[in-house]
Amino acid sequence: MNIGFIGLGVMGEPMAGHLVDAGHDVVVFNRSRAKVDALEARGAVGGTSPAHVGEKADVVITMLPDSPEVEEVLFGDAGVVSTLRPGSLVIDCSTISPDAAVAIAGRLAEHDIAFVDAPVSGGDVGAKAGTLAVMMGGDADAVRRASEVLTAVAATLMHVGPAGSGQLVKAANQMLVAGNLALVGEAVTLLQRTGVDIDAALAVLGGGLAASKVLEVKAPKMLARDFTPGFRLDLHHKDLKIALAAAERAQIAVPLTGVITQLVQALRSAGDGGLDHSALIKALERLSGSSPDGR
Ligand code: NAD
Repeated sequence: MNIGFIGLGVMGEPMAGHLVDAGHDVVVFNRSRAKVDALEARGAVGGTSPAHVGEKADVVITMLPDSPEVEEVLFGDAGVVSTLRPGSLVIDCSTISPDAAVAIAGRLAEHDIAFVDAPVSGGDVGAKAGTLAVMMGGDADAVRRASEVLTAVAATLMHVGPAGSGQLVKAANQMLVAGNLALVGEAVTLLQRTGVDIDAALAVLGGGLAASKVLEVKAPKMLARDFTPGFRLDLHHKDLKIALAAAERAQIAVPLTGVITQLVQALRSAGDGGLDHSALIKALERLSGSSPDGR
């Protein structure tokens, strides 16, 4: 299949690599050129603009920070839509608001281009391993076509409803991850301050009902003070705001999500927004004195 891939960051670079390895013809584009060169070395074709990608592809995948970037790449000057043929498919794997996804689906339909919102979960680890979980919103035929492509990057692919539904499920995903991270951060702080054998403690916690992917993957990062992203706090803040807006629209209260959003904002205000979201522990440590990293 001729696949275009735009946005070669922490997630997009390994995902595009898996598509190349699966035998697809992949044309890639990114704002900064170095990422394009890296994918070219792996067998992809380097694109010069989103329009160039649209010209070469039948399916275009976007993996960009937020909706303004997705809209610019698709509908801006030299955007994908200026060249992509009718009957083609756009799959957006970025995390954006459900409302923006519905609007994009409508604008693409005017060009007879199908759309699937297909945000992913599994982080940089899942992207590198090709084991992401993908939640897809769109009509059944478009989702079937998207699944054929995304099988190269995913272990779990699920159709969850019409356009925008994938983003609603992703918002729920981000609420769960944030809540879990906050409590892992509180638990690790308690264990460290009380002097138990922390490695033994985490091993036994991981064997019971408290076990979770977040505990398994993020607690070691907290202990090692390794906050290299991974998933940046700035991006998680964007996602929590999407979740809060979706909750408001649905007229439901999500108090825990609200509190954690404020903790993430406190870290961003202190200049830590570029750190991995496991750095949430720093906000909790500061509430109980100070963080080992100072401040
Ligand atoms: P990132 O910042 O590492 O990558 C984004 C890439 O898009 C960068 O390479 C940037 O140069 C490129 N880009 C930005 N604007 C562009 C434009 N106008 N044209 C072309 N390229 C452009 O982000 P990421 O961590 O890969 O995340 C991407 C999306 O996936 C986000 O919506 C994020 O919320 C979501 N996500 C991230 C993770 C994670 O663990 N990192 C996990 C699941 C979902």
